[in-house]
Amino acid sequence: MSEEQTVSLVDVLEEDEELEEEASAVLAGSDSDHCSYPQGYVKRQALYACNTCTPKGGEAAGVCLACSYKCHEGHDLFELYTKRNFRCDCGNRKFTELQCKLYPEKEDVNTLNKYSQNFFGVYCTCGRPYPDPEDQVEDEMIQCVVCEDWLHGRHLGCLVPDCVELQEMICESCMNKNPFLWTYAAHLAVPGAAAQVKEETVTEEANTNLPKKEEKGDDVIQPSCKRSREEVGPSCRLNEFHAVGQKRVRSGAVFWPSAWRSKLCSCNACKESLSEAGLSFLLDESDTVLAYENKGKNNEQRQQRHDPLMSALDNLNRVQQLEIIHGYNDMKTELKDFLQRFAAEGKVVTPDDIRQFFEQQQSRKRQRVDAGRFYCT
Ligand SMILES: [Zn+2]
Ligand SMILES: [Zn+2]
Ligand SMILES: [Zn+2]
Ligand SMILES: [Zn+2]
Ligand SMILES: [Zn+2]
Ligand SMILES: [Zn+2]
Repeated sequence: MSEEQTVSLVDVLEEDEELEEEASAVLAGSDSDHCSYPQGYVKRQALYACNTCTPKGGEAAGVCLACSYKCHEGHDLFELYTKRNFRCDCGNRKFTELQCKLYPEKEDVNTLNKYSQNFFGVYCTCGRPYPDPEDQVEDEMIQCVVCEDWLHGRHLGCLVPDCVELQEMICESCMNKNPFLWTYAAHLAVPGAAAQVKEETVTEEANTNLPKKEEKGDDVIQPSCKRSREEVGPSCRLNEFHAVGQKRVRSGAVFWPSAWRSKLCSCNACKESLSEAGLSFLLDESDTVLAYENKGKNNEQRQQRHDPLMSALDNLNRVQQLEIIHGYNDMKTELKDFLQRFAAEGKVVTPDDIRQFFEQQQSRKRQRVDAGRFYCT
């Protein structure tokens, strides 16, 4: 066995897991068998645009996961990752030839759908495709949580912080369209890279008239803050932030730490202005991509019951099931560790090594049986 084969075996194991995780994160929250159209504007779903059916120059359209499989098989598809509040367009008036196989009874258009350059396969402020054959620079694409476009890390106008997957990003253009976000940014956001203080414009069109009362539906606010605020009487958190007048450079994209949405003011006046700006989703923590991905993971776990191994186990009692699953996962992890050790040391795995591994497994299993902890049938 050559060294190359050894490494590739580990790679395969690892990559397989990574790909599986990545794919399930995007897809598991969406239905792969039924067109999502009857559900109306879906809160968040995996979306595709079809370059074969609705190419650039025409009207933009998006199709759901199931339609991408069943109605656009073999077509040139753009993977749009996930987008919020979208209703499947497959086969509607925008498609001159194609009929949706899953749900043909659609209205002409979905008037509330929002489209962007992404639906024609271009992204970022630079309007390039992804992957970009002419771009040699390795760079990650980050999705703005407001416009949902994808931007190159180097085109954000700020340094990309570590652990970016745990944070939400709002691009500079969306920040400037909603100036009150800069007030929040000064208090809640990850400090900007070019954090030199600049004068904050004092008047903000959207928020100068906010009343200092009316506080309802603030159950998202942390208990400690709630208490202290009840002591001083109801108020608007955004106004409070504004009054403090903390400064932040108003340029570049802004990164927000996890749970930042729960710190936004949800007084009636703020709710209203968020809704006018089309940003009500910012008060909804289940709108995040992270929440969507977690939903997908939970679905996956439930679906594991349909795994052939799992159904074979259905006939065993609960203790037996748990023991076997436990043993199976242990074995998988240990095999992976075992192979990784070889890769790390640059050593070649021989058939003897593999045999030895399984022999060790057997003897360990026997020890467990002897210890009376393994219930063999
Ligand atoms: Zn569909
Ligand atoms: Zn198509
Ligand atoms: Zn379809
Ligand atoms: Zn770019
Ligand atoms: Zn944006
Ligand atoms: Zn408020």
